[in-house]
Amino acid sequence: MKSKFSYNATVISCIEVTGEIRIIRVRLDQPGFRFKAGQYTMLGLLRDAPRVPEAQPEDNDVEPGGDPMIRRAYSIASGSIQDEYLEFYISVVSSGALTPRLFALAEGDRLYVGGKAKGLFTLDRVPQQSNVLLVGTGTGLAPYVSMLRSEVLANRERRIAVLHGASFSWDLGYRRELESLALYNDHFNYIPTISRPQVDHDWQGLTGRIPPYLEDPTLEELCGFELEPGPSHVLLCGNPAMIEDATGRLERRGYRQKRPREPGNLHMEKYW
Ligand SMILES: Cc1cc2nc3c(=O)[nH]c(=O)nc-3n(C[C@H](O)[C@H](O)[C@H](O)COP(=O)(O)OP(=O)(O)OC[C@H]3O[C@@H](n4cnc5c(N)ncnc54)[C@H](O)[C@@H]3O)c2cc1C
Repeated sequence: MKSKFSYNATVISCIEVTGEIRIIRVRLDQPGFRFKAGQYTMLGLLRDAPRVPEAQPEDNDVEPGGDPMIRRAYSIASGSIQDEYLEFYISVVSSGALTPRLFALAEGDRLYVGGKAKGLFTLDRVPQQSNVLLVGTGTGLAPYVSMLRSEVLANRERRIAVLHGASFSWDLGYRRELESLALYNDHFNYIPTISRPQVDHDWQGLTGRIPPYLEDPTLEELCGFELEPGPSHVLLCGNPAMIEDATGRLERRGYRQKRPREPGNLHMEKYW
């Protein structure tokens, strides 16, 4: 069966953060892809594309009569003010359909990229003067990297903090870039935490999972602003279990998701 989608982009670099995490840059055949920082688009590969040899057998059975292009959503990590390439921050699901194929890609290989950026997980609903805490697990950092690369820091009226959770310090992709941004922008703070410090002996930073920090006064000191629903908004991205736990704790502090006639100050993007 022929796919109704076709390859329209070329891989221009694959950066291995670890064996399980990659930063992939692609160049579109057609220039002019527009997006807002925080949005996502689809990536796709045909089912007959090779999978990395270490992948597990696939979880999902092939849908009979389904399109042979396997497509999944990925947040764009590149800044929206340049259009030379799109960057994606991807972790492999070893029994997954697409990621073991994406991880087999090398420079020069072809793939499908969705024609449009989608999603409302942007800073559009956050007033210019509100402080923002950007919370992400693993590759849930990607939309925030895009925001920080898209002149969000040019607005000095608000403070911004990134709270990023990973298993180990070596999983903290973009760490050097975020540390540098924090060094040169006193209204931005980068707060990484690792959940498995037992085997990460040199790690001197925060340890433990993200949700308990949302009720810990130490976090407000590290952010440089109060975690109060009036003056500050919170964005949550990545692992749905983290988002559920964090939402419960933030709602107890008075944070609310958007409702029909209420703007909300708690925004989220679940990855699965
Ligand atoms: C809006 C949006 C943006 C996304 N952006 C990104 C991104 O920037 N980077 C990224 O790596 N992923 C992102 N994802 C997840 C991505 O779309 C795929 O779900 C993921 O890459 C797995 O695809 P797969 O085909 O390999 O696995 P599948 O065959 O689709 O999935 C197998 C199973 O693995 C589970 N699963 C999916 N993702 C993960 C994960 N990361 N860790 C553990 N288990 C998982 C799910 O339960 C799923 O049923 C995003 C998802 C959404 C909805």
